Amino acid sequence: MDCLFCKIAAGEIPSTKVYEDDRILAFRDIAPQAPTHILVIPKTHIPSVAAITPEHSALIGHIFEVIPQIAQAEGLENGYRVVSNCGPDARQTVHHLHFHILGGRPLEAQMA
Ligand code: AMP
Repeated sequence: MDCLFCKIAAGEIPSTKVYEDDRILAFRDIAPQAPTHILVIPKTHIPSVAAITPEHSALIGHIFEVIPQIAQAEGLENGYRVVSNCGPDARQTVHHLHFHILGGRPLEAQMA
């Protein structure tokens, strides 16, 4: 499948990994929008939040257990934002489910 994040998950395209286990990978965004900008992805291909089904529940739960571990390891004790863009109105550009972790400075109050 011609999916950038599938290739990153498979190690075919390099990334700056910050966390990896058998189900998920976290790596630094190539165009960071905050001092800390990390993407967390499932290794299996799920196109977006809109494609999440009950069979993904354990995987999604696992992602949200690991996110605070990553945030702690990154020193984001002052807070951080978790974002997932879904579909064209949200300007999703990579069609493989990913959660942005943004932090390291006070973020804009406006969400959209
Ligand atoms: P989104 O716009 O929500 O789909 O986010 C896609 C994100 O992937 C953007 O923040 C990009 O900067 C990031 N990105 C694209 N290519 C790479 C890459 N090769 N390595 C790391 N991050 C990437």
